Parts: sequence; C-alpha cells; structure tokens
Amino acid sequence: MSRIEEACLLKHFQEAVEKGFIRPYFQPIFRSVTGNMIGAEALARWFDPEKGMLSPADFIPVLERAGLIYDLDMEILRQTCAFYRSLQSRGILLNLFSVNLSREDFRHDDLFEKVTSILDQYGVPREAIRLEITESLMLEDTETFQRVFRRFHDAGFSIWLDDFGSGYSSLNVLQNYEFDVMKFDMLFLRDDSPRGRQLLISLISMAKTLGIHTLTEGIETEEQREFLISAGCEAQQGFYYSKPVPEEEMAALCEKQNVETPEDRGYWGEIGLFNFTSPNPLHEYVKWKTAGPENGIGYGYRQSDSSIALVECSMERFRYVYASDEYKKRIRELGFDGVGGLEGALSNQRSHMFLMIRKLVLDALEQKSVQTFEYVYKDVYFRLSVLLLARKEGWAMVAMRLNTFDSEREVKTAQEMLNYSSALLSTYELVVLFYLDSNIVKRIYTANKMPVYDHEETIEESLRKFCEAEVEPVDQARYLRFMDLKTMMERVDASPKKFIQSIFRMRWIHTGSSWYTARITQIPTFTEKVHMLTIQNIQGNVSQWLDTVVMEHPELV
Ligand code: C2E
Ligand code: MG
Ligand code: MG
Repeated sequence: MSRIEEACLLKHFQEAVEKGFIRPYFQPIFRSVTGNMIGAEALARWFDPEKGMLSPADFIPVLERAGLIYDLDMEILRQTCAFYRSLQSRGILLNLFSVNLSREDFRHDDLFEKVTSILDQYGVPREAIRLEITESLMLEDTETFQRVFRRFHDAGFSIWLDDFGSGYSSLNVLQNYEFDVMKFDMLFLRDDSPRGRQLLISLISMAKTLGIHTLTEGIETEEQREFLISAGCEAQQGFYYSKPVPEEEMAALCEKQNVETPEDRGYWGEIGLFNFTSPNPLHEYVKWKTAGPENGIGYGYRQSDSSIALVECSMERFRYVYASDEYKKRIRELGFDGVGGLEGALSNQRSHMFLMIRKLVLDALEQKSVQTFEYVYKDVYFRLSVLLLARKEGWAMVAMRLNTFDSEREVKTAQEMLNYSSALLSTYELVVLFYLDSNIVKRIYTANKMPVYDHEETIEESLRKFCEAEVEPVDQARYLRFMDLKTMMERVDASPKKFIQSIFRMRWIHTGSSWYTARITQIPTFTEKVHMLTIQNIQGNVSQWLDTVVMEHPELV
C-alpha cells in the first residue's frame, strides 16, 4: 500500500467508524465430533464507498502503525456485544464469541476497564466473550503483558492463543500464560504435508497434557475435517463450514444449525481433553487426571493408530460418537458390519458376551478407573477396556479401547479360553437365565442325562413341573418358595452381594448324590434385570454330612 493510500485510510477512519462502514463479519466455530455450532469469531471488515470491501490485511497494519487499532478493536467488540444482545432477544442462544486483540491494545492502561465496560453496557456475561491474541504479542514487554493478562483471567475471561504455528512460535508462551484454547494455524494443513499433520497431532496432544482446549482454523475440505477428528482436535473453523458472514446471515445460520447448549459445552469440554492419539490413552488419561496437568505426564506422540472409540451410553442404549479407523477394523475382525452392527447387538442381544460388556461399562461408570475384559468371540480373542470421561443428565461418555490378538501364541490362549469357559459351565448341572420383566426363561447349559421339558404356557408352570419331577418331595415346597418369581428380584436386590443361595435334595441319581446348591445371581444389564440360576452338585463327605445334620435337625431346612 502506497503512502498516499495509507494517509487516505487514516483520514477516513474516524468517519468510517461513525458511519458504520466498519463492521464485524462472523465466522462460525464447530465442535468436531458432533458438528454442532459452538460459537463464532468476529473479523473486521471495512466497506469503503469507493474501494468496496477492504480486508484486515489492508487496514490492520496501517491502523497499528498509526496507533488507531485500539479504537477499531473496541468498536468490533462493541458491535459484537450488540449482536449478542440482539440474538438473545430473538431467542437465539449462541453464547460464545471471540474477538481479536492487537498487541498495541495492551499499551493502553485502560484496556481492561474499557473491555469490561463495553460488556456491561450490553449486559454480556464474561464467559460469552473470548479474547484472541497472537503469540508474537507476548514476546515483547512480558511484564506489562503478564499483569494485564492475569487481570482478565482473574475476572473470568477466557483467552485464546491465536495462530499458533504461524510466524515466530515460541513454546515459552505456554509456560508463562494460562490459555484456555490453542488455535492452530491453517498452515499445518496446507499442501497435505505429512510433516505438518504429524506436527499438528503432536501439538494437539501437548495442548491436552497442559489442559488446554484445541481448535484448528482454515478447514477447507471434508478430508481435513476427518483428519482433525482422528487427531482429537476439539473444534474447527474454516471455509468448509462457512466463510465469515454478516450479522443477518450469521443469525440465519444459527437458526438452521444445531447450536450447542451450555450444559453440552461443559460435558464436551471434559471429553475434549481426552487424548486418543496416545499409545495407551486410557491409562495415561487416568494418570494425568490424578496427577493434574501441572505435573505434566507426557503422552507419547505418534500417528493416530490407536484403536479407540467414544461411546455414549444411557440406561437403554449405546451410541458410537467416534471410532478410529483401527477400532473399526477390529470390530470387523470380530465379524460385525462395523460399529453400527456392534451398537445394535449391544443394545438388543441377550447373549452372554453382550451381558458381560454391559457389566463392564456399568463397572466403569461406577469405578472411574479403567475396566478391562477379555473374551473370545467367533474365534477371535479380544480385550476391551472402558473408561468414564464425562456425564450429563441421563448420559455418560466412555472411551473404549479394543484390541484383538492374532499371533500364534495369542490364538492358542484364545482356544484355551474357549475350552475353559465351556469347562466352567460343565461344573454345573443346570444354568438358566430369567428375564423377569419380559417373562422369558432360557436354559444356557444342561448337564448330560438331564431331562429337557417342553415349553409350558408360563414360567410358573415350567417351574412347578420341574420341581415335581426333579426335587425330592421333602424339599419341593421350599424350592418353590426359593424360586418364587414375584419376590425373586426383591430378595436378590436386598442381599449384599446380589445373589441368594440355598441347598436342596434332587432326584438326579446319575451323580450319585442327592444334595445340590442352587444360586440366583443378578446380572446387570442396561435394558432389564436378568437373573441367573445355577445348580451345582455337592459331593462326598459334605453330602453325607448334610444328610446327618438334616436328619438330626430337620428344622434347619
Ligand atoms: P485470524 O484471527 O487468524 O482470522 C482468521 C483468518 O482466516 C480470517 O481472515 C478468515 O477469514 C480466514 N479464514 C477463515 N477460514 C479460512 C479458510 O478456510 N481458508 C482460508 N484460506 N482462510 C480462512 P481475515 O478476516 O482476513 O483476517 C485476517 C487477520 O486479521 C485475522 O487472522 C486477525 O489476526 C486479524 N483481524 C481480523 N479482524 C480483526 C480485528 O477486529 N482486530 C484485530 N486486532 N485483528 C483482526
Ligand atoms: Mg483470530
Ligand atoms: Mg487465527
């Protein structure tokens, strides 16, 4: 820009402000995994009657040199606050706007007072306005800057570090200041360079270890959007979603799109600090949470090949919010059509494995530590680990990590596990599942030579028939009381370990003994309560001993 043009700009600046030729455009910001709008950045535009729209690159350096940028920034802040107010009064609850501050602004002693008075004038809460500053700003005059920074922070303002990675990045700024958000420069995504992406993955990991939220700007393609989700970047902004737009268009966008609620912001904020590109994300996250970010336990940095998923669960269902490619691959190895297949199975199926997975998740919700489960499914040996990340009304978000094993040694272990689990079942005479809410009974294991009955009209009918045929007459009344379906749930619930147990004499002569223990155990599930009846033989001495005791003290049973 020539000297003359520069002088011309400066001459018209005051007039442009007064006549409303300088206005903010708004560029929306989105939550990566949900795609919901979380806020917008205010970017200055100057509409010159002769030259048309001028971009910040044309006038910001000029205003900075002339000491006028402060007036511009305060004007943009004022108009942003006015816009916030007008949206609220129209029932549009977008409540996060970021504005850019220039390094020159910090030379003004009344910066803090000025900013707060503008917010107060429009009744805008502090959390609604985020201040973006670039790092080059902080390398000069550290002391003044630190003082003002602290003042804003103490007063409840969030400060975002803009353009990290452009220009002269210095990691010192992260040591000296507490930022809430790091905004990564679009340069990292340019040219699709693998180095740029690897760097970005590492920087996102690093930000998380420091407890700083992450946002990348300049997203132009679907592919970039997906890459950032897999890198764990929480928020995105760029032409792919929307260019900066004038007020009215911004208001229309808010009406058209999902806007994140304040409750969701807290929830997703917690989830956002979870680093899923680390080699061992679950355990490292627990360590990090316990030690606190200031004790900076570093996450390992590497390409995001972790098998990790974010799964939202309620009492009724599972919903995959995100799954890494590696996780999807392993789900397919287990024979599902992808996460949708497993999601459906987890929500509906009554098989043993799904019940176990539900129990694992319930344990994770209670324990707040990593819960792990190993099993064999369709000849594939797998390990599933679950960790609670955050909760909100009716929902909880867990991180799941899935490993499948296929080396020779691992397959052998898998085979053993299969053999052992069936061996385990064969130590019982009978294993039955009761779905009391839906009145269904399923035998899952019956020992050899045990009679199998036709299905009866009702469960009560089957029970009565079984009792008459199999239980010794002396114990029949007691057996029916023990198995009383009307009170079964209540009795199990009331017992401290969630099972009830008793002993009965049965007529199964092939085992050579008449005493059996019967146990009803509650299995936790999401959809309904399931109870498992196991009947196991008591042998030898113990059995004879029972005969003697009961003969002498019949009142005991
Ligand atoms: P910034 O704060 O980093 O803003 C992001 C810039 O990237 C904006 O340029 C935006 O239009 C542009 N951008 C957004 N998405 C994309 C994309 O997908 N691809 C590409 N190629 N560009 C994208 P803009 O509006 O020209 O602003 C440039 C810079 O001027 C801003 O960078 C900011 O540092 C400064 N600026 C803008 N408004 C203000 C202001 O009110 N006060 C101060 N002090 N500086 C401002
Ligand atoms: Mg900015
Ligand atoms: Mg920027």
